Amino acid sequence: MVKEQAESKKGIDKKTLARFKKILLKEREEIVGEVKQIYESSKEMGQDGIQDIGDEAANIYNKQILLSLTENERIRLQEVDEALDRIENGTYGICEECGGPISPKRLEVRPVAKYCVPCLMKLEKGK
Ligand SMILES: [Zn+2]
Repeated sequence: MVKEQAESKKGIDKKTLARFKKILLKEREEIVGEVKQIYESSKEMGQDGIQDIGDEAANIYNKQILLSLTENERIRLQEVDEALDRIENGTYGICEECGGPISPKRLEVRPVAKYCVPCLMKLEKGK
């Protein structure tokens, strides 16, 4: 049957974490990548031979990307970024509501999940 890994603590093991990180980065790339391409090609038309982008320019550049995203994409991007933050902070896979672990199965389906199933149900009921 299902082999339940005896994880004593509420974290996810490093290997799984790395895998989720990959999935999230790929998703991020998918959301941003397309827009970046459009932006890049429009930029190429206007200017020639500008090599280094300074921090400020990079910021504007990022802002431009964000602006050209649809509302949905922006929300998705935010969720992905938050999940990546949680991976960095070591809080990935921990429910924001009750502090308990989010089941790996749920994370498989929805890597950006920040609530465990019981809490999600409770929150959705409350809406
Ligand atoms: Zn919870």
